[in-house]
Amino acid sequence: MKPNSPALKHRTSHDTEREFGGALGALCIPVSLPLTVLFLMAASRSPEAGVLQWPPALPSRDQLWDPAAPVLLLGWIALHALLYLMPLGKVSEGLMLSDGTRLKYPINGFHGLCVSCVLLMLLLALGAPLGSLFELLLPLAACAMAVSFLFSVYLYIRSFWVPPHALAVGGNTGNPLYDFFIGRELNPRIGNFDLKYFCELRPGLIGWVVINLGMLMKEVELRGSPSLAMLLVNGFQLLYVADALWNEEAVLSTMDIVHDGFGFMLVFGDLAWVPFTYGLQASFLVLHPQALSWTRAAAIAALNGIGYYIFRKSNSQKNQFRRDPTHSSVAGLETIATASGKRLLVSGWWGLVRHPNYLGDLLMALAWSLPCGFSHLLPYFYVLYFTVLLIHREARDERQCRAKYGPAWASYCRRVPFRIFPYVY
Ligand code: NDP
Repeated sequence: MKPNSPALKHRTSHDTEREFGGALGALCIPVSLPLTVLFLMAASRSPEAGVLQWPPALPSRDQLWDPAAPVLLLGWIALHALLYLMPLGKVSEGLMLSDGTRLKYPINGFHGLCVSCVLLMLLLALGAPLGSLFELLLPLAACAMAVSFLFSVYLYIRSFWVPPHALAVGGNTGNPLYDFFIGRELNPRIGNFDLKYFCELRPGLIGWVVINLGMLMKEVELRGSPSLAMLLVNGFQLLYVADALWNEEAVLSTMDIVHDGFGFMLVFGDLAWVPFTYGLQASFLVLHPQALSWTRAAAIAALNGIGYYIFRKSNSQKNQFRRDPTHSSVAGLETIATASGKRLLVSGWWGLVRHPNYLGDLLMALAWSLPCGFSHLLPYFYVLYFTVLLIHREARDERQCRAKYGPAWASYCRRVPFRIFPYVY
C-alpha cells in the first residue's frame, strides 16, 4: 500500500488515545533515555557511584567508541537471528489478529540461551578475556543505542507499506514523532521472521546475562575470585532470564505482542535499556565490592525465592486459565463472566491483588539490589524504576481491561480492591 492511500488516511484521521505523555513524551523520552543509560553506566564505574550529583557526569566521546563494539554487537544479533531460524523447539500460534488470522512463532528462545551458554563456556575454556566486557560496556551501549535509532527509523518507514489492518491501534495517530516512538506496525516481519518477537526476549535479554558474566570475570581478574554478592546477582538474574525463555510462549499473549506497535519505545527497551541498565548491580560490584555474610545472603535468596514463586505461580495460573479453563489446576477457581465470553479469575492468585505477577517481580527486583549493600543508591535504580514502570503498566492494562470488559471489570475491582500490594496499593 502507498503511504497516502485513502484507507490509511481514514485510519490516521481518527483520534486514538495517546500514551507516555503524547507528542511531548515522544520528543523527550528518546533524548532522555539514552542520556540516562550513559549516565547510570558512567556512575556505576565512578568511585563515588553517585546518582544525585549535579551536573551529572556523562562519559566523554572517547569512552563511547571502540571498533570492537559494533563487531561484537552485530555479531551477537546475527548469532541470535540464526538461532531463531534453527528448526529447534515447537512452533506456536499467536492470538487471533483483527483480520482473523494467527501468526506462527518459533518457541526456541531457551535453546538460544543454552547454545549461548555452551559457546561462552567454550570461549572461557579457550581463555577468551570475558572480563574485557567491563571496558567495552560503554562503547557497546553506544552502539546498541545507535542500532535502536536506525532500526526504529526502518520500522517507521516500512510501516507505510503495510495494509491498515497490520497497524497497531494506538500507533497511527498521524503525528510522526509520536508514531515513530510508540510504533505503527503491530507485527513487522521479513518473511516469517518476526522482528518484534525476536527482539523481545533474545539478543537483549540473553545479552544482559552475558554482560553479568563478564562483570563476574572482571571481578575474578581483579580480586582472584567472584564475591558472594556478585554470585547472587548473577544467579538471580540468570534465573529470571532462563524463566522468561523457558516460558517464551507466554509472551505471545502479552500487551507488547498483542497490543503495542513496534517502534522506538520497544526497540530501545529491548536492545539498549534492558541489557545495559538491568545489570547495573553487577557492574557496580566490580569497583564497589561489598562484604556479605552468609546469613544475609540466605535471607536475600529467600526473598528472591518468594518473589519468584509468586511471580511464576500467578503467571502460570493465568496462562493455564486462558489456555484451558477446564484444566484441573484452575477448574475449581471462582470466576466472573464478561460480555466478551472470556471469564475473569476472582480467586487464587488473581483474587489476592489484581496484579500478583507484578508483586512477585518487584520482590525479586529488591532482592537483586540488596547484595549491593546500603552505601549507594545506584544499585537500587532498577527496583525504583521498575516500581514506576509496573505502576504505569498496571494503569495502562487497567484502562484496556475496563474498555474490554466494562461492568465485569468494575465488579472484579470491587471484589479485588488492591492493584499490586495487598492492603497498600
Ligand atoms: P499480565 O500478564 O499481567 O496480563 C494482563 C492481562 O491479564 C490483562 O490484560 C487481561 O488480559 C488478563 N487478566 C487480568 N486480570 C485477570 C484475571 N483476574 N483473570 C484472568 N485474566 C486476567 O501482563 P504483562 O505483560 O504486563 O506482564 C507479564 C509478566 O511480565 C509480569 O510478570 C510482569 O511482571 C512481567 N514484566 C516484566 C518486565 C520487565 O522489564 N522485567 C516488563 C513488563 C512486564 P485478557 O483478559 O485479555 O487475557
